[in-house]
Amino acid sequence: MLESEHQRRAYLDALGIDVWVPRESEPDAAAALRPAKPSDDGDWGALRAAVADCTRCRLHEGRTQTVFGVGNTAADWMIIGEAPGAEEDRRGEPFVGRAGQLLDEMLRAVGKSRDEVFIANVLKCRPPNNRDPQADESAACREYLERQIELVNPSIILAVGRIAAQQLLETDTPVGRLRGQLHSLGSVPLIVTYHPAYLLRSPTQKRKAWEDLRLARRIAAGDAP
Ligand code: SF4
Repeated sequence: MLESEHQRRAYLDALGIDVWVPRESEPDAAAALRPAKPSDDGDWGALRAAVADCTRCRLHEGRTQTVFGVGNTAADWMIIGEAPGAEEDRRGEPFVGRAGQLLDEMLRAVGKSRDEVFIANVLKCRPPNNRDPQADESAACREYLERQIELVNPSIILAVGRIAAQQLLETDTPVGRLRGQLHSLGSVPLIVTYHPAYLLRSPTQKRKAWEDLRLARRIAAGDAP
């Protein structure tokens, strides 16, 4: 699928590079051909309840609340980040604040709204002082994320940031070498990109993130990378 000029400019606008040009949302032809996914509220309810009450790791001690994930439970795109920060812990929602706004703009540039995708983190509870998740915490929480992926059954996973990418792919390869290529998690294609918080600090990397989004869009649409 060719990238439209409007889409490119929409993303560049989010980067503070260009002028916003409103555009019509382009239909996802591949999505239109896919059968509708059945929703199972019972499965989701049980999973939400299990996460809300979870004490499997030490992070439950310091949380305000668990951050389960938000969005369309039958989404084609699943966005997976690292762990809740202070604001996410307060609001109970992943990717809020300036980084969340940039993620929203990145999604918008590929024709997706926050409500259309499903957004979750590797960890459902905030690590103290925003430290990196520890291996035993990620292992304890992994089953919840795997169940979310199973229930959403997305066409593409976008792993956002170093921690999410390395933990999902079980590697210590730098994110700069993981991005730009097709990975998979089970049978689900996975693309790695930079975390929007990093992009806010390192704006020269934003064009690479746009390349990652375009790659993810092509794969989600059924095109070979
Ligand atoms: S981070 Fe995950 S495993 Fe640890 S207490 Fe929270 S929900 Fe449970």
